[in-house]
Amino acid sequence: MLNLVLFGPPGAGKGTQAILLAKTFNLVHLSTGDLLRHEIAAKTELGRIAGELIDKGELVSDEIVISMIESRLKKPRCTIGFIFDGFPRTVAQAKALDKLLTKHHSKVSVMLCLAVDKGELVNRLLKRGLTSGRCDDLEAATIEHRIDVYNEKTLPIINYYESQGKYFPIPGVGTIEEITENLTSVVKTIYDKPIISHSHK
Ligand code: AMP
Repeated sequence: MLNLVLFGPPGAGKGTQAILLAKTFNLVHLSTGDLLRHEIAAKTELGRIAGELIDKGELVSDEIVISMIESRLKKPRCTIGFIFDGFPRTVAQAKALDKLLTKHHSKVSVMLCLAVDKGELVNRLLKRGLTSGRCDDLEAATIEHRIDVYNEKTLPIINYYESQGKYFPIPGVGTIEEITENLTSVVKTIYDKPIISHSHK
């Protein structure tokens, strides 16, 4: 199986690139942000709990997102693997993902990390907020808080994957096509080959 973790701060372009990579490599695109917004739109109890946290720029609990991923991994599919977008966001989630994939006799193939500086992220998200309808994209203070949460709780995941030789940083600036090409060429170097060590730090 080919299982990609698409990683990076809010506004790095994960969603856009995940859709393109899913098409190219025939992967199921799993975005925990999209799954949570779906729960909010469906007005479920889970959506109510998640919505309050999302609006404040906080993370939803590990238990909630891990169980969402667990149920999606169980669904029958006719693809060669998954692209995880916005998951994992904590080291606990990264460890849980490994456990879940092991149950399915699989593992994370590679972690692709889109790097974009803070000023550019804030600008992109404020611009997206004009059309996305997302409350968490509307105010600079909430956006900055999301980036702080990313730095504090999510960034440590890099060490987790780097120690396994699975961490690949990729510049998240340039045209969408250029970024897609860089991501695609990394995936092609590891696809169908055993993972040994690919640290490019
Ligand atoms: P995203 O669409 O990936 O930017 O996610 C939007 C929001 O959903 C985040 O700011 C978090 O509040 C929540 N969220 C999405 N994925 C996760 C996750 N893996 N763990 C915790 N919270 C998440």
